[in-house]
Amino acid sequence: MGKITIAIDGYSSCGKSTIAKGLAKKLGYIYIDSGAMYRAVTLYCMQNKIIKEGKFSEGEVLKAMNNIHLAFNVNSLTHVSEMCLNGINVEKEIREMDVSEYVSPISAIKGVREKIVALQKKFGKDKGIVMDGRDIGTNVLLDAELKIFMTADPAVRAQRRWKELKEKGMSVSLDDVKRNLELRDHEDTHREHNPLRKAEDAVVLDNTHLDLDEQLIFAEKLVNSLE
Ligand code: C5P
Repeated sequence: MGKITIAIDGYSSCGKSTIAKGLAKKLGYIYIDSGAMYRAVTLYCMQNKIIKEGKFSEGEVLKAMNNIHLAFNVNSLTHVSEMCLNGINVEKEIREMDVSEYVSPISAIKGVREKIVALQKKFGKDKGIVMDGRDIGTNVLLDAELKIFMTADPAVRAQRRWKELKEKGMSVSLDDVKRNLELRDHEDTHREHNPLRKAEDAVVLDNTHLDLDEQLIFAEKLVNSLE
């Protein structure tokens, strides 16, 4: 079988990026983290005081989009693509909790989405791509041969995310992580433009009780079934 396009969508902290990276590695595909792009825009707005005391004007964010250049650079050690904002690797900064606080309202702005989606479509125009996010199967890569929609018990997701942040040395409470996931899920599923929803042709993967190996086996079976 020739290379295909794989779209993975789902709720916050379902392990989308873990499975997407694992699949990309196994198949020799390129992994694109679409959420990292919205996070980088949010980080830029924070660094440049466009988000002030939790508030921002859509007009200012849209103006700022003209000064934002986003690219993915492949890490030579891990072979995973990392987010660069105006030439600077911001892979660590975009994962901080304060970026997580504002990324959903920023990503809900129509003009922001239009620019980012256009870029994502460009990145995804060749086969051999695994892209994860919220609207990849429903909006960005409509023709993807394989679409997976991931979900998991919210309490399990919060616990996993909290552990991951702690392991990265970030000090944050489990309650704050829980609250942030609930808020982002709500905002992402209720926004006007490209809300998170399962594509009709997506296969559901509920990984509440599955470890990474089991999930990869499940996903690989889906890839092989397309042959
Ligand atoms: O995937 P991640 O949690 O890093 O995404 C951060 C946020 O970016 C999401 O909560 C969502 O608001 C936004 N996002 C989006 N569309 C995507 C990917 C992410 O709106 N395709």
